[in-house]
Amino acid sequence: MGAGVDGWTPGQRVAVGMVVACGRCPACAAGQPQLCDALVELGIDADGGFAEYMVAPAANLHRLPAHLSFAQATAADPLASVLHGLAAVAVTRDDAVAVFGVGVIGLYAVQLARRAGARRVVAVGRRDDALRLAQDLGATAVDLRGQDPVAAVRDLTGGGASVVVEATGAPAVVSQIVASAAKGARIVVLGVFHEPAPVDLGAVVRRELRLVGRLCYTWDEYEQALAFLASGQIRPLVSHTFPLAEISRALELVRRRGAIKVVVEP
Ligand SMILES: [Zn+2]
Repeated sequence: MGAGVDGWTPGQRVAVGMVVACGRCPACAAGQPQLCDALVELGIDADGGFAEYMVAPAANLHRLPAHLSFAQATAADPLASVLHGLAAVAVTRDDAVAVFGVGVIGLYAVQLARRAGARRVVAVGRRDDALRLAQDLGATAVDLRGQDPVAAVRDLTGGGASVVVEATGAPAVVSQIVASAAKGARIVVLGVFHEPAPVDLGAVVRRELRLVGRLCYTWDEYEQALAFLASGQIRPLVSHTFPLAEISRALELVRRRGAIKVVVEP
């Protein structure tokens, strides 16, 4: 423990949020650390958890609930991101929700939309194991390999989804999320896009769509994610675990999309 840190004791079980913010810029002052001018994402911009030991600011620690294992607690990070994202679209019982992408982000979006009571949740993807899991979690699965996903979503939602969650980061999906949206729909983009994607702004205007992006999470949302996992309200999704010595195999499995979520245990 570093000098000046208190409130923690060595040996305590903790989870570590990845958002390291300066605490002084206008975004931080407004309670939006994920928009910090000097944002550092642990594990991306700085060394993360693929190690026996890592250094993290005390402000990023969360007490781990007693009956949550370390592997289960890894779900808090993606779940917190989805909590942050869905807060922007406020799903209610009247909503028909379409989730594009059935990686862990999409699968947590399915769970949270179900939990919010959405009248219909449709999950669009192209992987058998993940589509089966989406179905188990309460979604109607649409396999885009065999059908036009836009037509399928419009059909299953009765004319268009009132909430669309983008969880792929694939530019080709952008036209589909707009085309799948009902009039007045809210669209939240959670995928990490590495290249620009064209958006039909004419459709956004004509159908009065609301299109928002969301990144990471706040400390409170991470805490909420841990509480949902600890209480069993949200199912942690971990398909494989590897010891640190076999991290190359773990990364290889992720690269060839052979897993839902891989955890490396030091
Ligand atoms: Zn800041």
